[in-house]
Amino acid sequence: VDALERKRMKSERIRWRHARLATLSGDSPWGWIENGELITEGESLAWVGDAAQLPAGQFDAEHDLGGAVVTPGLIDCHTHLVYGGQRAREFELRLQGASYEEIARAGGGIRSTVTATREAGEDELLALAQRRLDALRAEGVTTVEIKSGYGLSFEAEARCLRVARRLQGADVRCTYLGAHALPPEYQGRQDDYVEAVCDWMAVLHAEGLVDAVDAFCEGIGFTPAQTRRVFEAAQRLGLPIKLHAEQLSDQGGTELACAFQALSCDHLEYLSPAGVQALAASGAVATLLPGAYYFLRETKLPPVAALREAGVPIAISTDHNPGTSPTLSLLLMLNMACTLFRLTPEEALRGVTVNAARALGLADRGQLRAGLRADFCVWDIDHPNELAYYFGRNPLRQAVRAGRIRA
Ligand SMILES: [Zn+2]
Repeated sequence: VDALERKRMKSERIRWRHARLATLSGDSPWGWIENGELITEGESLAWVGDAAQLPAGQFDAEHDLGGAVVTPGLIDCHTHLVYGGQRAREFELRLQGASYEEIARAGGGIRSTVTATREAGEDELLALAQRRLDALRAEGVTTVEIKSGYGLSFEAEARCLRVARRLQGADVRCTYLGAHALPPEYQGRQDDYVEAVCDWMAVLHAEGLVDAVDAFCEGIGFTPAQTRRVFEAAQRLGLPIKLHAEQLSDQGGTELACAFQALSCDHLEYLSPAGVQALAASGAVATLLPGAYYFLRETKLPPVAALREAGVPIAISTDHNPGTSPTLSLLLMLNMACTLFRLTPEEALRGVTVNAARALGLADRGQLRAGLRADFCVWDIDHPNELAYYFGRNPLRQAVRAGRIRA
């Protein structure tokens, strides 16, 4: 596409008519517009509303959506898509009765992913991650967050973030998760490793590879004091933070993260009432990850009723990773958020659109509203509640990203 053609596309006005819109904007349920139309202008939504109020004007093209349901493009706001290998053998061994220790001794667990990631070349990692991203895209994902955290050396973390930046077909936000696990060469020197993580952060940020910083605050991860050091380093660089918090125990990580104006706290099964209040007061998003809850066969539920009561925005994500959530279906997470966590179908959809955008600090997407990016999905369904109702069925007809119908 030459420069002239690109300029023409940038200003193209396209009418998308005969749509039933779940705008997720305003106070009405689903932000519903029964006889809806959209006008896109280049990469943006120029107008969204009832067909009866369509502004007069010329269009460069028109699409008849035939009464299909249209939602904002889906946003998967917590993934670990870039890594080498997979852990199906470990899954099998565990079902044959092997313990975590036996698996770790046999070279399994997160260390096996770190080894496979370090051994993989950049192009190999890119091919693996692109396939995973394509699976998410096939269900309407137009924006995805990807964390590093399986390299755990400067070189390997940088490679994973470069790969995330090179992925095609969706907008990618890159989160630096050096404080994910302790690499073997730092055994017994956890504080030294945290210092290295902070040093690497500055270099990776200078190379334009970091949009946000994350850490795993947990008994098997990093302590609140170590997590604080990571946050302070991020704050010095002006980078927003997120946190894997309260997944397996209550460490008070959420309160700490909220004191640093976290974009989101993620997992939250063991979140305390004080943690709920900290989220409500700070405006941070609670990101719930039903895939990991399911795969680990957890029984402690996140405090959804308390979060709802306190008005905390809730996001939903795949947490795609090889160890605890190997799913590549965000639609399945909508169903699990309802069946396992008792969210309503509307709350679940808000969790992968407007609230997921907020969890990434993105104010330009997640709803169907004039002025936002023209990212939307056209679904072959009669009502948006079907997105959470089915599982193992993909009713996506087409996805539009930045005003362009996606291949
Ligand atoms: Zn995660």
